[in-house]
Amino acid sequence: MKAAVVPEFNAKLEIRDLPVPEPGPGQVLVRMVASGICHTDIHAAHGDWPVKPNPPFVPGHEGIGVVEKPGQGATLHSVGDRVAIAWLGSACGHCSYCVSGWETLCESQRNSGYSVDGAYAEYAVADDRFVVSVPDEVSSLDAAPLTCAGVTTFKAVKVSRLQPGETAVVFGIGGLGHLAVQYARIFGAKVIAVDLEDEKLRLATSLGADHVINARTADPVEAIRDLGGADVAVALAVAPKPFEQALSSLRRGGRLVCVALPADGTMSVPIFDMVLGGKSVIGSIVGTRQDLADVFALHAAGRTKVIAESRELVDVNACFDEVLSGRVPARLVFEF
Ligand code: ZN
Ligand code: ZN
Repeated sequence: MKAAVVPEFNAKLEIRDLPVPEPGPGQVLVRMVASGICHTDIHAAHGDWPVKPNPPFVPGHEGIGVVEKPGQGATLHSVGDRVAIAWLGSACGHCSYCVSGWETLCESQRNSGYSVDGAYAEYAVADDRFVVSVPDEVSSLDAAPLTCAGVTTFKAVKVSRLQPGETAVVFGIGGLGHLAVQYARIFGAKVIAVDLEDEKLRLATSLGADHVINARTADPVEAIRDLGGADVAVALAVAPKPFEQALSSLRRGGRLVCVALPADGTMSVPIFDMVLGGKSVIGSIVGTRQDLADVFALHAAGRTKVIAESRELVDVNACFDEVLSGRVPARLVFEF
């Protein structure tokens, strides 16, 4: 099978011919149909974060494919089922996090395309308990971005406790942001989109944003304050500055949800303002299997729209350049 492999950090990915993996006990072999590119895959290939993967490895955690072979004891999915392979490749299932609906915080979790080989390949093995069924109404091209970008922003909006009538600001309109705008609308908020590119702001408007701000030509903090301030700000841009802008744009009682992971990112939090303003900073990491099932159900019901372009796996390096240049309108997806 063909697979895109990170041979070492900061090197070009290599397309290699690897043996089709055998599903172990409790695993399923999945024949990949579509596989989305998440910015995390680029961070993984660069070894950007404190916890690093071990090259050589196959990235990818927006994998959509068809179960081709169950391993011993894998009985939850059948041959022919279409499933999603997400970032949460597996978790222990019995720690305090796993049993309380916070499996995404499990300290024994394994992550697809990071600590185990992922979905940039014609086949992948995955834990039968952690792949999520994809409804027939959701195309594979749409399902791939929903598997990370969708579930991550859906969860971010959920943990922000966004209420109908409140104002939500989305910093960074791309693969994640274009979906965050839509989930904030579903939760009943007024939505402000902030980005550096007018094209992305037009996309946000077309997806229902009430106001857009170009942070290159206007100070987003002032512009958001002029609109009454943010009850919720979702930080999706991969740079520290928008995080501080997002925090400064909050009105009293506001909540900043940190999602993007800039390399070596730190932010300064003004304690006095946080205390007197009753503000919160919340970290949010992907979502659970149930969150992903909810994301698929919303999409199947026609409540969200995915903006994605199809690519070939052999063009993986050019695709990374496209993502890094900011030219991609939303998501790129390899189709097999
Ligand atoms: Zn991701
Ligand atoms: Zn656990």
